[in-house]
Amino acid sequence: MYPTIAISLRTLAAFRQCHRACPRFSIQAQCRTLCFLHEIPYRPYLNTQFSAAYNIYLEIIHHVDQRLKAALKHNTPNWRLLNSCPACFYKLQDEPTLDFNWLVCVDGNNSLKRWDSSIYGNTAWLDSRQARSDYWIDRETVDKYKHEAKSCDINSHDDNWEEELVDASTNPSNVLTCVDRWRNAGPETRKKMFSVFHESGIFIAACRHRFILLACDMVQSGELAKYPLALIDKLLTVYGKNGGSHDLGFRMMVGSFHGHAHNRKCQLRWHPMYIPGTGHTEGEGCEHVFSASNELARSIRHASSFHRHQSIEEHFSFWDQDKYASLSNFLWNHYREALKAVHNLTTELTAIKHELRLTDDDFVHFLDEEQKYLDDLKQPPAEDRIRIRYVETLDELAERRSDWDSARQAANNALTELPASSLAQINQALTVARIRVDSSYAKLQHAEALVAHMESQLGVDARWEIGGEEYSCFKEEASLGKYRAALNNLERLVVMRLFELSKLSLSGTGYKLRQQISKALQRRSEAIRKAIARYNVQAVALNPPRDKISWKDIADYTFLGEFDLLRHSCSDVRSDDWAKPAYREATSKYFKLLRAREEITRLNVEIRRLRTAIYDEELQATAVIRDLSGSDPLLASELKRQWRSRAAINAVHVYRLDQIGSLTGFSGVRGREDIDDIQAIIMSDYVDMDAIDREEFGRATEDIADYLQSIVN
Ligand SMILES: [Zn+2]
Ligand SMILES: [Zn+2]
Repeated sequence: MYPTIAISLRTLAAFRQCHRACPRFSIQAQCRTLCFLHEIPYRPYLNTQFSAAYNIYLEIIHHVDQRLKAALKHNTPNWRLLNSCPACFYKLQDEPTLDFNWLVCVDGNNSLKRWDSSIYGNTAWLDSRQARSDYWIDRETVDKYKHEAKSCDINSHDDNWEEELVDASTNPSNVLTCVDRWRNAGPETRKKMFSVFHESGIFIAACRHRFILLACDMVQSGELAKYPLALIDKLLTVYGKNGGSHDLGFRMMVGSFHGHAHNRKCQLRWHPMYIPGTGHTEGEGCEHVFSASNELARSIRHASSFHRHQSIEEHFSFWDQDKYASLSNFLWNHYREALKAVHNLTTELTAIKHELRLTDDDFVHFLDEEQKYLDDLKQPPAEDRIRIRYVETLDELAERRSDWDSARQAANNALTELPASSLAQINQALTVARIRVDSSYAKLQHAEALVAHMESQLGVDARWEIGGEEYSCFKEEASLGKYRAALNNLERLVVMRLFELSKLSLSGTGYKLRQQISKALQRRSEAIRKAIARYNVQAVALNPPRDKISWKDIADYTFLGEFDLLRHSCSDVRSDDWAKPAYREATSKYFKLLRAREEITRLNVEIRRLRTAIYDEELQATAVIRDLSGSDPLLASELKRQWRSRAAINAVHVYRLDQIGSLTGFSGVRGREDIDDIQAIIMSDYVDMDAIDREEFGRATEDIADYLQSIVN
């Protein structure tokens, strides 16, 4: 054998980091780059060779990691889950209790799919290698939750942004069960789409700092509920049940954006703004993970199962490293935001409470009343629905009769009014008149038959008189029905528009898709304008008439919560305090204030956890390095190398945490009493002092930017 190609470790390491920073940068792109640099023609077989070398390189890294983990005692069960996010999981003994010990969001996405190789007509080549990281929950474990999935009804907020919503107006009972509305969104099309992919996507769980905790594959099946169940069950075993409230031992919530798109009743129950203890957790963290991992899609679509896992694992572990590096920034930004929110909301609420003469208890009452009101809403009973339909048929009958009368009138007129000059003309006029009389008579007969049929169903002996008491009673309901249909249609269009807007703002949406979405948005706006016009016609026809809606109302994103009120409220409800716009706004401010305060409590805990974790890590790492230097110098030097970058990040964290501590309004623990000198960490051998300088410089720049912004506004 005479090898002709050698790939250096340095090249492989460089590729790994490039691929990390830009997941689109594929092995093929790397090979082309190398060919140009070495001035040889590109050949596709080089991809295979590079890929083989890269696999071996990752294998070596994996083995080194295993040995390091053993040395650091990081190889205990669930070590990663318990330690990857110190802010969430590095619990201290004397910390205040939080409403939720942990907050996690779970979501699925199907951009990371893999084509079934049988699609190309060839048999799959077996690759017995298994996924190596503990991110994954395997297929057998997931399948255990297949049956439980049916009995649980809150678990599938699985959004499929790609699919259109079902038309809510076709099924009025959907109005109050919007979770089902989402779940039912086109299961057939979904199944069809799934069958060409072997693994059709992934489900992940991420903490509020966006560390990825767990993942599992979605595999050719429609039972989407089992995936989140499997993930949550694992989380419950590792982190304990105190993830939530009394009944379930765990509480679900919908993401904040998502919450806006849901109906009001669902919002009141599941929106983080109304769940005590959630702070400023927005619950859409998975979306951010996916918008980055979507970049991987192209390179793994046709890979083998093992390579797909390998590549996703690599991506996830890099992602987590990035999230660790920006953890103190997350805390810093959230702290400043929460302080600002508390300050502004307190000022506003004091004024409002004074003006409207309200107390904090009133706001809680308003929310309860609204909840109770929505709970009490019922569809009219079936019997009444037939009566409403009967009233409509009566109207139709009256209309048909008058059509027939006027047709006969027209026929008479044709005979008398036409000058008897042209026989052909008279003949033609008579034919037209006869056709009109015949067809209106046929329609009249049809309407008669329908009315008679409904009368027999309802047991009505004497036909209701138009304008009579019974008629008027259901006539109102009938026009309300038309009004609701117009309202449903409008709501559906507005929700879809918001989804499109949210897609547009996600990074990683390609240019072409962006163009398509903006075109769709334009069309949508047109459709919404028409729907608004139709709605306004029906709103005015009601007795008493409802307010008209304008485009400006719709463009306001919080308007969605109002749809349900519009749909159901009778005029008497609108006079209740809780339904008045000023009170509603004040109530939502009040709950925002509560969440902002909770956020600060949570951040105080998280800040202390991070500081302690850094301190403990420092002690442990230096001790292990010292021990290894004697027993295994090679391993020691590798650990030293890895520790250097970690220590630099930690130093920046400590610097940031001190900064948070110096914010006006900071209410947590400053520093750590038992660390006599935090400078010891910053000054240790491993830390690059320049990093701190850069951080300081960055901060100064940020401050200037903030200042400029404040003058501009
Ligand atoms: Zn919902
Ligand atoms: Zn976290």
